[in-house]
Amino acid sequence: MNWREYVKEVTPYVPGEQPKINNLIKLNTNENPYPPSKLAKEALEKLAEDYDSLRRYPKPDCDALRDALSEYMNMSPDKIFTGVGSDDVIFVLFTTFFHSDKPVLFADITYSFYEVWADFCGFKKELIPVKDDLSIDINDYRKENGGIVIANPNAPTGEILPLEKIEEVLKFNRDSVVIVDEAYIDFGGESAVKLIDKYDNLIVTQTYSKSRNLAGLRIGMAFANPELIAKIKAVKFSINSYTMNEPSLRVAAAVLKDEDYFKECCEKVIKTREWSVEEFKKLGFVFPESKANFVFVTHPEYNANDIYAALRERSILVRHFSIERIDNYLRISIGTDEEMKALFEALKEIIK
Ligand SMILES: *Cc1c(COP(=O)(O)O)cnc(C)c1O
Repeated sequence: MNWREYVKEVTPYVPGEQPKINNLIKLNTNENPYPPSKLAKEALEKLAEDYDSLRRYPKPDCDALRDALSEYMNMSPDKIFTGVGSDDVIFVLFTTFFHSDKPVLFADITYSFYEVWADFCGFKKELIPVKDDLSIDINDYRKENGGIVIANPNAPTGEILPLEKIEEVLKFNRDSVVIVDEAYIDFGGESAVKLIDKYDNLIVTQTYSKSRNLAGLRIGMAFANPELIAKIKAVKFSINSYTMNEPSLRVAAAVLKDEDYFKECCEKVIKTREWSVEEFKKLGFVFPESKANFVFVTHPEYNANDIYAALRERSILVRHFSIERIDNYLRISIGTDEEMKALFEALKEIIK
């Protein structure tokens, strides 16, 4: 026997790069362009004074964060699960709920991690093609399945399904777990969290990485009925009970008290997005309507990869996916007004 015959062969997800380029305008990974709440800094300072507490394991149930979220969401704590970013959370959901011999359904154009996780776990999968305009038709999700994942708004398109449509998916699929990944919900969408009591097959995931300006701390959460949450915890505690660390737990709980700043940042991003889409239009770009902190643009006369390269030469980084159907698109995160102005100056040089 040779270990090479038994190694797990995987094709990993490729995240957007985090390069070291001076004066880089970074519009490639949908991070928030504004700093975290000052309460994050305060919480870290308090932790520094109390650094002896780091000798201890954190609470496996992430009590401080769970209880803070419980109060903030006005929801009982047994409906909340937290993890190391929503990537960690959604992976645990996959390993908990998708062991059926029926395929897991998700869109062909969506967050590409879903396919990586399904393959990693060896689950059957069915990629449901989005329409030519890249929209999701929920009628395509009326078929036998072993689970469903929908990003809402979808990534990388930014398009949102109204809550009535999400509800239809839940109604057709009462026997499957439906994950609604709301990584971008705070930029103008309506959350499905309000449906978790009505549908015992619904799990909604959210993250601190985009709208709460804390991608660096890796904080994500899931909301669902207590029966689902208990199953998730059992699986999680079979892998590692302590993945969330004390600094993340403290900061995550603390910043929930700064609702004004959270709203202010989201509103700023939305406002910048709204004038930016007008600029994209003026330059001849075409794109689905975005309710996220990015716009997914294509140009009928210019090659996306060429635009990507020309922007990069000007130290502006956007995201290009070499994936069939969308390889002539660019996903451009919404930065500050200044960053977007610089982007449009550059695009005006490139698109003549
Ligand atoms: C960014 C993103 C995530 C992961 O977010 P983290 O909380 O940083 O792990 C999940 N789903 C979608 C659609 C995303 O864009």
